[in-house]
Amino acid sequence: MKNLSVMIKPASSLCNMRCKYCFYADISSIREQPSYGVMTSETRKKVLSNIFSQLDSGDSITFAFQGGEPTMAGIGWFRQFIQEARQLAGDGIQISYAFQTNGLLLDDDWLNLFKEHHFLVGLSLDGPKDFHDRNRPDAHGNGTFAHLLDIKKKMDRLHVSYNILTVLTNAAARHPQKLWNFLNEQQIAWVQFVPCLAPLDGEQNVYALTPERYASFYTALFDLWYPTLTQGRPMSIKLFDDLLALLAFGQETACGITGHCHPQIVVEANGNVYPCDFYAVDEWLSGNLQEDNIRTLYDSSAHASFRSRPRTMPEQCGDCPYASICGGGCPRMRSSVFCSSRDGFCGHRAFLDAAMPRLSRLAAEIRRRSV
Ligand code: SF4
Ligand code: SF4
Repeated sequence: MKNLSVMIKPASSLCNMRCKYCFYADISSIREQPSYGVMTSETRKKVLSNIFSQLDSGDSITFAFQGGEPTMAGIGWFRQFIQEARQLAGDGIQISYAFQTNGLLLDDDWLNLFKEHHFLVGLSLDGPKDFHDRNRPDAHGNGTFAHLLDIKKKMDRLHVSYNILTVLTNAAARHPQKLWNFLNEQQIAWVQFVPCLAPLDGEQNVYALTPERYASFYTALFDLWYPTLTQGRPMSIKLFDDLLALLAFGQETACGITGHCHPQIVVEANGNVYPCDFYAVDEWLSGNLQEDNIRTLYDSSAHASFRSRPRTMPEQCGDCPYASICGGGCPRMRSSVFCSSRDGFCGHRAFLDAAMPRLSRLAAEIRRRSV
């Protein structure tokens, strides 16, 4: 029984916002062709056909839409996608949907579509108004916070499943208490902090999170979060959930959490496939889903060499007590967010030093309750 996950970028790198730290604007700018525009209906049909040709009754597939900004393909594009996928799946293949969006184009029609087809929505919201509007203006330079908060409240009323994605810039990470207060005031139950990365060419910028700030932010956040565990329903914070799943059951719920790449199928709007969203660049082009099927793409030489890239471990990892559960983490995070060149400092290790005794106790408790 297969359980596949495919990320699709229906509008390539097109976006109606101008976030100052956008990682996909950086990645796509490295390619010979930065944007492939909106996926045509012909490409969509071929892509779907080559995906479902490898699935059998009893299998399941998750389509995760991302961008750029996927809503720029238009709601009709998604209605067609859902209909065509349903036809190809028949009764025996289960389909799930996830959708990451900046939220700017969302309205009642979009929210009803998400609700009807049980989408899990990732809504980008960078905390309080001044934090969010500083870095996430629309294409005209206007703030987007008010609209997003309105959308978030509508999703609450309609019971659309969502989590909040908050980009952790180096400046925002100075304020764990303010971010924590905001999340609680807005009764946000699920949040993922996304470390802001330096560009792929390695050059630092003012937005990129440093290892020192990573450590101080997560240590303070953990101190705020931990006591709330005994007060009913605690907030779900992705990094803490991932670490607990790993410690309690050995489950890897985040790519790279133990230092290994798990190549994915990331589909650009022209059908091009790459092994990872962080590396959707010409060098790692694995094939094209208009001609290839999922099996041949997983077996492609680009996917194979991506999987077998030598792991270059920083010096810091040599004597690290967490090496067996971290292994240097995701390579894209390792050099920019975890390990600094200063004094062998690792931000993730410093955070784990502070949190591990409590994380271990929690993991033991979760394990005990699960039997
Ligand atoms: S670079 Fe990171 S996210 Fe990409 S496949 Fe490797 S571990 Fe996963
Ligand atoms: S030093 Fe940091 S990156 Fe290396 S294994 Fe330890 S926690 Fe992971």
